Amino acid sequence: MIAEAKILIIEDNKSDADLLCRELKKSGLIFKSEVVQTKATFENALQLFRPDIIISDYSLPSFDAVTAFRIKQTNYPLIPFIIVSGIIGDENAVELIKEGVTDYAPKAKLFTLPTKITRALKDAEDKKEKALIDEKLKIQTAELIIANKELLLQNEEKERRATELVNLSDSLHKQTEELSLANDLLIMQEVKVQAVNEQLTELNQELEFRVTARTKALTESEHRFRNMMETIPQIAWTNTIAGEFIFYNRRWYDYTGLSLEQTKDTGLRLAIHPDDLKNSSGWFTMIREKSEGGEFQLRIKRADGVYRWHLLRMMPIKDEQGETQQWVGTATDIEELRLLQQQKDDFISIASHELKTPLTSLKAALQLLDRMKEAPSAKMLPMIVLANKSLDKVNILVADLLYASKVNEGQLHIDPKNFVLSSVILDSCQFIRAEGVYNIQTCGDMNVEVYADPVRIEQVVTNFITNAIKYAPESKQITINIKKVKGMVNVSVIDKGPGIPAEKQRFLFDRYYRVDNRGSHYTGLGLGLYICSEIVKAHHGEIGVISEVGMGSTFWFTLPVA
Ligand code: ADP
Repeated sequence: MIAEAKILIIEDNKSDADLLCRELKKSGLIFKSEVVQTKATFENALQLFRPDIIISDYSLPSFDAVTAFRIKQTNYPLIPFIIVSGIIGDENAVELIKEGVTDYAPKAKLFTLPTKITRALKDAEDKKEKALIDEKLKIQTAELIIANKELLLQNEEKERRATELVNLSDSLHKQTEELSLANDLLIMQEVKVQAVNEQLTELNQELEFRVTARTKALTESEHRFRNMMETIPQIAWTNTIAGEFIFYNRRWYDYTGLSLEQTKDTGLRLAIHPDDLKNSSGWFTMIREKSEGGEFQLRIKRADGVYRWHLLRMMPIKDEQGETQQWVGTATDIEELRLLQQQKDDFISIASHELKTPLTSLKAALQLLDRMKEAPSAKMLPMIVLANKSLDKVNILVADLLYASKVNEGQLHIDPKNFVLSSVILDSCQFIRAEGVYNIQTCGDMNVEVYADPVRIEQVVTNFITNAIKYAPESKQITINIKKVKGMVNVSVIDKGPGIPAEKQRFLFDRYYRVDNRGSHYTGLGLGLYICSEIVKAHHGEIGVISEVGMGSTFWFTLPVA
């Protein structure tokens, strides 16, 4: 039951309204009320006051209970509506109640009103509750319907899945059968595979054996190759077909003084003479393209900075199909060889010149003699002397050449005997001594005897003396000194000529060597001192020179005492 009921009273008579309120209060009803008289105030109160119950006079000057009831009924059907009136009859009241009015109380029996109000409020409350319950029921029913639909859907899904499961099960069954078949096949194949496997293992072992043997052979071959590369006196290396570094032998590092890193980076290029670089790179490319190998000469820098000529040889290493796999290169120092070559070329030109000069004189003399032969006269004599001299010169030159070539071939024959050395020395160069231009003095141990070939020893002494005259013409004094030193006799021929530069002295006894080869105005083939040296060596003696530029030269040799 509502604690404080809100009662809307439709009444135009204020005292009736007050009376009504008093009656209600008397009955103990707790309420608050609002009184309206017109349609507008009624509609307003319905919205703002929101009454729990409406008590209406039946007839008002501008309004009436029936109109009020219909307005209320449209918007608030649950609010109870009680009509209080003195003029309405019971039949009308019944009609109104049939229409939906809650109750009716005559003004004369106002005391019945509280009970009716209480009942109407109670009914209204019940109705509200019922309406609420109905509403809830409606919602629940709707929810149930939805849940039901959901369940139906779920059921359908379950059925679908069940069907799927059945299908899946069938398919699985089939697959299991297929798998079983496949398994059988696999087992069969496995047996075959095992057999093949065994064969393969055998083959593998065989191959492994062969590979091991081949690797061993290759390692040994590689080892032999490296050893060979290390033992040859030349610089040697290998590189790829693209020209990249693989290996350089020790001789390379020792000779060039380059490190492994420098060699890797720039290889040969670092050591090649700048003037030879361009030609050599063209040559390398050409050799690689031809794939046949070849050789080339260039200068390589030694660790001390000196460039020396080398002969470079490149050879391809080919596989069984003839394809080049890598390159082997060697560099041979040919500096000496080139020098000798140069000397030989020089010699040929000098020899031709030397021979040509007396031959031209000889020819001229003979031509003159030929013209004079019809009328011989004393004028012919100097011509004959000139012809003879020229012939002698040619003879000497040819003899020297022949002798040198004999010596070179190891055919120097000596016929030794004991003799007094000074006698042979005094006999030498008789014609020079006879001229009296040069003072040739012999001193020292004049009695010492040697065991040697006197002809060859005279040849040596003559060569020393003629050289002294040829190369030191201003020095008129030539001294020959004989002295015994520790079982050997030392003979030295001393002149006061121009002397010989120190750096050239060690080559003086080499074949074809001449100190001033090109510009020399002295004749000679560079063979005299070489022949002397070979003669002295054949006697187990030594030969040498002491000389200083501007001070003169002393050529000496030793012989064993007899
Ligand atoms: P060649 O036939 O040219 O004289 P040699 O073998 O006799 O050859 O001498 C070699 C070189 O040594 C000569 O070319 C000369 O330059 C030098 N030579 C030899 N003797 C003397 C000397 N007494 N004084 C200066 N130079 C000399």
